[in-house]
Amino acid sequence: MKILIVEDEPHLRELTRKSLEKERYVVETADDFRSALLKMEDYEYDCILLDLMLPGGSGFSLLKSLKESDRRETPVIILSARDAIEDKVEGLDLGADDYLSKPFHMAELSARIKSVLRRKHRAGNAALEVGNVTVYPDDFRVVVGGKELELGRKEYDILLYFMNRLGRLVDKHALAESIWGDHFDQVDNYDFIYAQIKNLRRKLKEAGATPEIRAVYGFGYKMLIE
Ligand code: CA
Repeated sequence: MKILIVEDEPHLRELTRKSLEKERYVVETADDFRSALLKMEDYEYDCILLDLMLPGGSGFSLLKSLKESDRRETPVIILSARDAIEDKVEGLDLGADDYLSKPFHMAELSARIKSVLRRKHRAGNAALEVGNVTVYPDDFRVVVGGKELELGRKEYDILLYFMNRLGRLVDKHALAESIWGDHFDQVDNYDFIYAQIKNLRRKLKEAGATPEIRAVYGFGYKMLIE
């Protein structure tokens, strides 16, 4: 799961980044309006944490442009020092999923992120189920046909990515950016992705998983279920 932190205050930005990285999120950051806008146009995120008062413009404008784009489904949590009720209402009206006033506890931020991801991907459920595979994202567990399946960290991230996109064509580049971070576009070697996917497919097959990750020649992959 990849999160974008839009925050100009360096200390808070780094604190939040470190805390979320410990929870195994891939974290990207933007420290002003322009860099946030470019990131939001160029990359896909699972959740955006948005400060309102930024050098160069307002977080509300960023939210507006996101909601007018084809990434309008991306969950957004506003993090603001402004505790005014008008700001909360405006943020939620513009389509933000949640609003957290600064200062906040990292534990609360973490719980809010989990909650928006649960709502977005799993209709509020703690677990995600595809065929005989069940993933429990809150504690990174995978169960296949009633048995725990041990996966490496990236294998797990890749599995969750596909389970959230069942039946959809997955572009290998978008997959790589989501699992390894935005700067993947500066790399042109997909070998390590192929290796991770190969291992994941073998482990799923050996465990008797019913969903399958299939290669789509020249484009990427698709998770299908018989
Ligand atoms: Ca600010």
